[in-house]
Amino acid sequence: MDQPSLANLAENGGAAGAPSFTLHGAGVSGGIAIGYAHLVSTARLEVAHYEITPEEVAAELARFDDAVAEVKGELMGLAASMPLSAPAEIGAFVNLHLMILDDAQISQAPRELVRSRHCNAEWALVQQMETLVAQFEEFEDAYLRERKADVQQVVERVLKAMLGTGHVPAPPAESDRLVVVAHDLSPADMILFKQTQFAGFVTDVGGVTSHTAIVARSLNLPAIVGLHHARGLIREGELLIVDGRQGVLIVNPDRQVLAEYELRRSQFDLERKKLKRLKTTRATTLDGVEIELQANIELPQDVAEALEGGATGIGLFRSEFLFLNRDDLPSEDEQFESYRDVAVAMAGQPVTIRTLDLGADKTINGADRAGPNPAMGLRAIRFCLAEPQMFLTQLRAILRASHYGKVRLLVPMLAHAHEVEHVFQFVRQAKDTLDAQGIPYDREIEIGGMIEIPAAALALGLFLKRLDFLSIGTNDLIQYTLAIDRTDDTVAHLYDPLHPAVLWLVAHTIRTANKAGVPVAVCGEMAGDAAMTRLLVGLGLRQFSMHPAQLLPIKQLVLHTSVPEAEALAARILRAEDRDKVRSLVERLNA
Ligand code: PEP
Ligand code: MG
Repeated sequence: MDQPSLANLAENGGAAGAPSFTLHGAGVSGGIAIGYAHLVSTARLEVAHYEITPEEVAAELARFDDAVAEVKGELMGLAASMPLSAPAEIGAFVNLHLMILDDAQISQAPRELVRSRHCNAEWALVQQMETLVAQFEEFEDAYLRERKADVQQVVERVLKAMLGTGHVPAPPAESDRLVVVAHDLSPADMILFKQTQFAGFVTDVGGVTSHTAIVARSLNLPAIVGLHHARGLIREGELLIVDGRQGVLIVNPDRQVLAEYELRRSQFDLERKKLKRLKTTRATTLDGVEIELQANIELPQDVAEALEGGATGIGLFRSEFLFLNRDDLPSEDEQFESYRDVAVAMAGQPVTIRTLDLGADKTINGADRAGPNPAMGLRAIRFCLAEPQMFLTQLRAILRASHYGKVRLLVPMLAHAHEVEHVFQFVRQAKDTLDAQGIPYDREIEIGGMIEIPAAALALGLFLKRLDFLSIGTNDLIQYTLAIDRTDDTVAHLYDPLHPAVLWLVAHTIRTANKAGVPVAVCGEMAGDAAMTRLLVGLGLRQFSMHPAQLLPIKQLVLHTSVPEAEALAARILRAEDRDKVRSLVERLNA
């Protein structure tokens, strides 16, 4: 992309004199980014576009042919396994999909595009699909018009078959000056962006505690979600200002606005730099109470940032991110190496590895068992208990890594005591197999549970007496307490960490665990929210785990916090049920 300089753009009043406008959404990550719009398509059927060399054409065609053959096999298998009692329409639908797949428009035309344009096969297939869909849309007959959905479904199957077998597209030139603009991004998309330096992200949909937002935060880049129409209104290459703190996106700013935001950006960067001095300072309150500040990570390479932020441990390793963006499952050895690397890098400080939390907004290929309501479906520990082989593989990998550092095991989404008992049985089984092979592991490995379903908080005793430690997952606890899907921006305004019911559950969990002498942490986004730090300290919390970029700002806050003051105000906040009253007391606490 041939980009004019920032100064020239502003001089002309934005890109090519285009009008300036502002959009509002939810800021999910601090700071200000200034850069050019880079529109990415991540809807299910939109894919990356990249060039291949003439020498790569044959391999690309083979990749495409393999995917078509794989889907054909799948569909034929489906047709063959259809019970006699199945409704005739289902058989007809499978046959229709087989016909579409066999049609030269789908199985041959994209090959021509790959040959003539030297493009990747996914892109060629989607181009061809769009041509076909446009033709279907012209049909008078409603039934025929609707068949475009079948074409899309077949194409989607082929794309899925190709997923993970392609090249990683090269990042666009000067990507650190590009702001990604998308309708939606999945957590898997976001994790891919970790390999590319963009200036910021904005999306039309998504909630502030969706996993997409969480990964954006872990990238430590300004980001905004829930902008509704950004993808439709913004054109490629337009100049954007992303204010991730305020959730404001300015498109084609004029010269004055640009200068103002450039100043704010350098002030923000300066503040961040100054905070680095606190890296080795202990997080102690004004009255000498020690607060543990640990990091949440998604991938082993995030450890570097956690150490930069002075983390005293990994409070949450979201291991499921190792499973995304690939066709197969990571082997035991591969998982072991990832976990061990983190354990070694943390040099004896605790590394809390959460067992797979797949389902809801994080799904893996071929295991799409999320059901009609993914957040309440076969997710996290429920999924693991239903997939014993996969679970045992992970447990063995974690146990093996425990020989190399202070590894702890954390189980997500517990609601029942029998789930804990089942986990213990699996851990025992994994230990037995390691013993039989003479493989060393930490025999005293601690097993903890996430308190993120209201039932678990309310029946805390069940978990306190069985587990070595607890970690409160406020993202899900809020989602389930207030019955709002954390990924759905249409209910994002109802997502309220200060709702009395939420505060009661959090306070009750902390108080009860402290009383029982069972270590308790908060690892949801609340832990890294500076507005909540003093309140949590006042409620008795001494262990926080957050995305690495927040460690130092939160430490600075802790250093200026008085525990008795926080306790007194926290008690009043808990009693005050009125929304405005709660907010004004929190403001006072943070003043
Ligand atoms: C939580 O629910 O608060 C949590 C930390 O887990 P996740 O965000 O991965 O669901
Ligand atoms: Mg959770």
